[in-house]
Amino acid sequence: MFDHPEYDGHESVTYVSERASGLHAIIAIHSTVLGPAGGGVRMFDYERTDLALTDALRLSKGMTYKAAMSDLPFGGGKAVVIGDPARKTDRQFEALGDAIEALGGRYFCGEDVGTTPDDMAVIHRRTSYVVGLPGKTGDPSPATAEGVYVSILAAVAHVFGSSDLRNRHVAVQGLGNVGARLVELLAGAGARLTVADLDTSKVDRARARFGAAAAAPEAIHKVAAAVFSPCALGAVVNDSTVDEIGARIICGSANNQLATPQHGRLLHERGVVYVPDYVASVGGAISAMRERIDYVEGEYKRRIAGVGERVRQLLERSVTAGEPPAQAADAIARSIVEAAHG
Ligand code: NAD
Repeated sequence: MFDHPEYDGHESVTYVSERASGLHAIIAIHSTVLGPAGGGVRMFDYERTDLALTDALRLSKGMTYKAAMSDLPFGGGKAVVIGDPARKTDRQFEALGDAIEALGGRYFCGEDVGTTPDDMAVIHRRTSYVVGLPGKTGDPSPATAEGVYVSILAAVAHVFGSSDLRNRHVAVQGLGNVGARLVELLAGAGARLTVADLDTSKVDRARARFGAAAAAPEAIHKVAAAVFSPCALGAVVNDSTVDEIGARIICGSANNQLATPQHGRLLHERGVVYVPDYVASVGGAISAMRERIDYVEGEYKRRIAGVGERVRQLLERSVTAGEPPAQAADAIARSIVEAAHG
C-alpha cells in the first residue's frame, strides 16, 4: 500500500473479510487530524481488489479535503464493500458494523453509491459510528443537490457576471438521487436542460416534467451548454473527453471527476472552469453531520449557502493566482490539514 500511487500518507487501511456473510470490504482512513474520519460506505462489484483499494484511497482523501474546505470537524475515511449491491445481505452489513466498531470511533460511516439509509440502520445494530439513519437525517442526496445548485449559481455568476439561470443551458449527466433533485432546482430557476442517464425512464420523466432535451450518455459532456453537471460517475474528464467538453463550466456531485490532476490543468488551459467536486458536493455531509454536531438555529442553511460563497472565493483565487481551481482547492485543503497537524 505504501507504494500505491494513490497512497497519500493514509493513516490506516483495514481489510475486512468475514466468512459467514461473505463480506469483503476495505476501510481506508486518510486522516483523523481534523476529527474522526467520516465517509460513506460504497458497495460496488469491483472487477479486481486493487480497483477497490484505489477507490478507497482516493475517496477517503477526498473526504479529508471536503471536510477541511468546508470547515466541518471530521477527517477523511471511506469504506468500500466489494460486491453487487443487488445481492447485499443484512449479515454483511452487520459484519461491517462490527469492523467499524472495532476501529473505536476513528471512522464513522454514512451511505454512498450502492448503499441506503436502511443499510445504515443495519450497521447501527452493531455500532453507533454511523450517520444518515432513517428517521434522522436519512438520505443526504437532496442536501447534496442543494450544495451543487448554489455552486452552479456561484460559478455562473463568476463566468457570466450574473447568477440568473433563466435560459442558461445546463447539461446534467445522471438523474439518480442527486441529479433528479438538481434538475428540479435548475428547472425551477428557469434553466434550459439537457439530460442523460443510462436508465431511459429517468430521462423520459425529466423530458415530460421539465421539457428537458435528451443526450446520449456517451455524448452529454460534448453539449455546448453553459454548465456541464456530472452527477453519475467518477473520471468523466479523462484523456478521451477533456478536449470534447462543450460547456464553459463543470460543476456536479460525482466524486473524482478528474481522472488525474493533469486533466484539471488541461481544462484550465482550455478556459473551462472546473468546480472541484469535493467543494460542490459537500451538502450531504453538512446534512449528515447534524447527527454528530448540535447545529445552532439556522446553521444548516448558512452552511449550505456557504458552499456557494466558498466556490466564489475559490474561483476568484484561481483567477488571481492563475492556477486551476482544483489545484487551488487542494492547496487550501492541504494547508488546513497541515496547520492542524501543528
Ligand atoms: P445514484 O446511484 O442515485 O445515481 C446515479 C445515476 O447515474 C443513476 O441514475 C445511473 O443510472 C446514472 N448513470 C450511471 N452511469 C451513467 C452514465 N455513464 N451516463 C449517464 N448516467 C449514468 O447516485 P447519487 O446518489 O445520485 O450520486 C451521484 C454521484 O454523486 C455519485 O458519483 C456519488 O458518489 C456522488 N455523491 C453523492 C452524494 C449523495 O449525497 N448522494 C454526495 C456526494 C457525492
